[in-house]
Amino acid sequence: MRLELSVVVPVYNEEDVLPLLAARLRPVADALGTPYEVLAVDDGSSDGSPVVLQRLRREWPELRVVRLRTNAGHQAAISAGLARARGDYVVTLDADLQDPPEVVAEMLAVARAERVDVVYGVRSDRSTDSAFKRVSARAFYRLIRWLSGTHAQVDAGDYRLMSRATVEAVNALPEHNRVLRFVVPALGFPSASVTYRREERAAGRSKYPLARMVRLSIDSVTGFSIAPLRAATWLGLTGGLAAVLLLAYALVARAAGHTVPGWTSTVVVIAAVGAVQLLCVGVLGEYVGRMYAMMQGRPTYFVAYDSLTGPATDADEPLPAESPRASA
Ligand code: UDP
Ligand code: MG
Repeated sequence: MRLELSVVVPVYNEEDVLPLLAARLRPVADALGTPYEVLAVDDGSSDGSPVVLQRLRREWPELRVVRLRTNAGHQAAISAGLARARGDYVVTLDADLQDPPEVVAEMLAVARAERVDVVYGVRSDRSTDSAFKRVSARAFYRLIRWLSGTHAQVDAGDYRLMSRATVEAVNALPEHNRVLRFVVPALGFPSASVTYRREERAAGRSKYPLARMVRLSIDSVTGFSIAPLRAATWLGLTGGLAAVLLLAYALVARAAGHTVPGWTSTVVVIAAVGAVQLLCVGVLGEYVGRMYAMMQGRPTYFVAYDSLTGPATDADEPLPAESPRASA
């Protein structure tokens, strides 16, 4: 059977949100009047999410659950969903209801009417996000645009619709640690956008601590630009020039008979040069690390089961609904 739409939802410890999500997403999807699937990617949740998903699935046949063996992260979970989604169009949507599901209908209508491959959801109002999140997000998007010159929309997150052609293009990329919100615009496929109001998280807490946000930023920058490598070169050059000037100054001072400056200046110079070197080595390391990861070619996620096809291997546990043990 051909499916018109797949909605990919990454889920990580969202047991409180899932029933609310189902209650809001299902009417929207049913009202489309076309065959669809909602593909929940359980990103190795350690709470009751798998059990809640199986319970929801009993009443909602269009709900399909793919569980990853371990927590792979937001972007990898979405990638897993994209690799398995069957729809002609695929929408990616966070589970926490910050992105209103009602917009899915609008995205699909725009995609059909304007015959575009991608429809971005653009946040018109982020007042429900914390001030820190807003400021850091804005700086993040500006930085990426400046560094990489991609056509990424400011304030477009991971709420977007993609055509089958776009999804296949993304799936075919060999790149690891891909940050989809920049990878998709970089494809340059015809696109449109719809705006929506970003809402408050419906329940539970954000799964993006600062460390993960920093990780995402580094992956975004190193995935799109070698500007930091050049910055390292420039820093090195500037440091070298400063050292030459200092040397000249020291020689002149000595010839003029001044006493040798105290250790303060020496310490400052050593510290500054050391810092520049460490920074440059660190930048190099980021890229070497990326290349290393690509050469290893390790998958970024492992699937444990797919409710469509069953457990990944015969030795795997049955789906949680059939085995109460899995809820422990
Ligand atoms: N998520 C995930 N794996 C993770 C972290 C988050 O699948 O390791 C999911 C999470 O369940 C949610 C979405 O990614 O559906 C976005 O996460 P969250 O709402 O916590 O991020 P924020 O909106 O605070 O940036
Ligand atoms: Mg959220």
